[in-house]
Amino acid sequence: MLKIKNLHASIEDKEILKGINLEIKPGEVHAIMGPNGSGKSTLSSVIAGREEYEMTEGEMIFEGEDLTEMDPEERSHKGVFLSFQYPVEIPGVSVTNFIKTAINAQRKAHGKEDMPANEMLKMIREKSEMLEIDRKFLSRSLNEGFSGGEKKRNEIFQMAMLDPKLSILDETDSGLDIDALKVVADGVNKLRREDNAVLLITHYQRLLNYIVPDVVHVLVDGKIVKSGGKELAYELEERGYDWVKQGAV
Ligand code: ADP
Ligand code: MG
Ligand code: MG
Repeated sequence: MLKIKNLHASIEDKEILKGINLEIKPGEVHAIMGPNGSGKSTLSSVIAGREEYEMTEGEMIFEGEDLTEMDPEERSHKGVFLSFQYPVEIPGVSVTNFIKTAINAQRKAHGKEDMPANEMLKMIREKSEMLEIDRKFLSRSLNEGFSGGEKKRNEIFQMAMLDPKLSILDETDSGLDIDALKVVADGVNKLRREDNAVLLITHYQRLLNYIVPDVVHVLVDGKIVKSGGKELAYELEERGYDWVKQGAV
């Protein structure tokens, strides 16, 4: 699904990613862990195509197509979803209206008409029931006064509705309480399928108690220094990052 080769990227002429290789297949959940400042958010932003970041070398192929040629909107229409680390508030726009607009924009990009209102309602009902999202929540203004858990609920709802092929979830290093973690974990687990994939970026091993990844990568100073199975997350929790940094395996 996603093949990244020798990816280098900079911000303001400072090299942050220094040769990343990563391959994600359909059905897989990959976790990227690593100390603060190692480049995890930069990697998610570069995959999503955020313009502040300059890709200086390498390749990013998504479903056989070159991602680097596409702007962020095109990437999202192709099925790459990036959760927002710091979601914006949009007063006056409800959770439901925001997602309706996003879905119709995605359809338009594929040459389709707007989704008929009854079909949209049916999908909203099904997905919100699956994720146990309250009706009242859906009519609230986007992110306005949302708790940490509610922000996560909104993100997971967006993900369920847009049904991306690849979801990149970049978790903040702080401020995720246990409820918010569980919302993310339950959502990801319910939305996991053989034909989609998840790239889960996290500082915390705790999240991986609830979402069992197929592959865990450790990012240190812009490079993946180690990859392994789910047990690697436990090892990192116990031993910290120094032993992988030193290559002492
Ligand atoms: P992580 O998500 O692993 O904590 P980041 O990708 O956020 O790491 O940051 C990697 C490095 O890039 C850090 O040294 C950080 O200071 C730098 N960096 C990130 N964003 C910017 C920016 N907008 N301007 C300048 N430096 C940045
Ligand atoms: Mg950080
Ligand atoms: Mg980060």
